[in-house]
Amino acid sequence: MDLKKFIRDIPDFPEKGIIFRDITPLLKDKNAFQYAINEMTTALKSIDFDVIAAPEARGFIFGGALAYNLGKSFVPIRKPGKLPYKTLSEKYQLEYGTAELEIHEDAINEGEKVLIFDDVLATGGTAKTLKSLIEKTGGIVAGMAFLIELTYLNPRKLLKDEKVISLITY
Ligand code: AMP
Repeated sequence: MDLKKFIRDIPDFPEKGIIFRDITPLLKDKNAFQYAINEMTTALKSIDFDVIAAPEARGFIFGGALAYNLGKSFVPIRKPGKLPYKTLSEKYQLEYGTAELEIHEDAINEGEKVLIFDDVLATGGTAKTLKSLIEKTGGIVAGMAFLIELTYLNPRKLLKDEKVISLITY
């Protein structure tokens, strides 16, 4: 199945010059959604890990399904002020603007192997931030997986030593 057919390009969203890759048509099509999750599930079998960590909001949609499919734990990473317990946080630069993410300080056990999942790998800044948050908790990043990778932004330059999987590339 050509998953690209289910990704809608929205020019100049949320800012001029950004082509937003909208995954909602893929989520709307039950066959494409299931196919994408099954393909990613298969790809992730090549990585040894215990936990999937994913940021809100779109990372949750796939991250939860993948964790369930593979029998792994799920750790939510959220925007500031959303997690109820003690948090660790990290500020970073986005393709558009700046942002901050938080994780519960006890979300990951010392030495646990963590797979990072997000919908889109753009500049790689978010993935790098997720990695440093996970390492602050004592976790080890075993790999990173994305539904979509924007290779024209060169994200792997920031993620040189990481094992990176993506299903759809632009
Ligand atoms: P980055 O930190 O630049 O790799 O950006 C990745 C994060 O921003 C992901 O959580 C994406 O959901 C979102 N994002 C960045 N650029 C885009 C884009 N062109 N289309 C859709 N989402 C994007």
